[in-house]
Amino acid sequence: MLIDSHAHLEMKEFDSDRREVMERARLAGVDCIITVGTNLGLSRKALSIARQYENVYATVGVHPHDVAKADDQSFDELKALAEDPKVVAYGEIGLDYFRNISPQEKQIAMFARQLELAGELKLPVIIHDRDAHDRTLSMVKSSGIRSGVFHCFSGDWAMARQCIDLGFYISVPGVVTFEKSKVLQEVVKQAPLDSILLETDCPYLTPVPHRGKRNEPAFIIHTAKKVGEIKGMAWEDVAERAAVNTRKLFRMDIAAK
Ligand SMILES: [Zn+2]
Ligand SMILES: [Zn+2]
Repeated sequence: MLIDSHAHLEMKEFDSDRREVMERARLAGVDCIITVGTNLGLSRKALSIARQYENVYATVGVHPHDVAKADDQSFDELKALAEDPKVVAYGEIGLDYFRNISPQEKQIAMFARQLELAGELKLPVIIHDRDAHDRTLSMVKSSGIRSGVFHCFSGDWAMARQCIDLGFYISVPGVVTFEKSKVLQEVVKQAPLDSILLETDCPYLTPVPHRGKRNEPAFIIHTAKKVGEIKGMAWEDVAERAAVNTRKLFRMDIAAK
């Protein structure tokens, strides 16, 4: 009954053993994976993987790191890809002021453009925000979009409260298992269970006890267990509630059983 609401199965890190990774996820009880596009090429690949595996869904979009290379034609094609029934959200999109791989002005312009596109497509959005909390939140607010998730949530409880009040979900990554992640642990403690999703963001952000290795969907169980520990609940109940939230956000109620 586990769902990995944010994975990158399309990344090259999984090219040599994707089938084994999927099998380990199945054995660990992961019955659904959302694989998230980060540029045009990887969005295409995410969708082709989703077409290949019944329990995998895809999203399309251009990550802030990759926006410098996106042109009008890319957005036309992303829009066409988004029409596929296996595409359940637009993203990941947002701002990354930690690494600043693309210039900030470009990131802002492309984030605004993609929020508008997601609105046109009537898709929920997957938001990436690193060290850009205020700007990200204010752009989401003014976009008028009220359906989506702040993935790999890195703000404090005051920010989480604002996201939830806007109608957004907070997605908890394996980072919550790290000893030093006190702010995220507090967010998890305070946030109502009906606003939480679970994610790996694999191949990145490997949870304890696998740190140092490549992350993969099977490891989502460690995040569910940590959230259960923080909330004083059985991890199975956490997993179940987060799965219900994910299906609701991505409108998968009918599509996936
Ligand atoms: Zn991200
Ligand atoms: Zn990601």
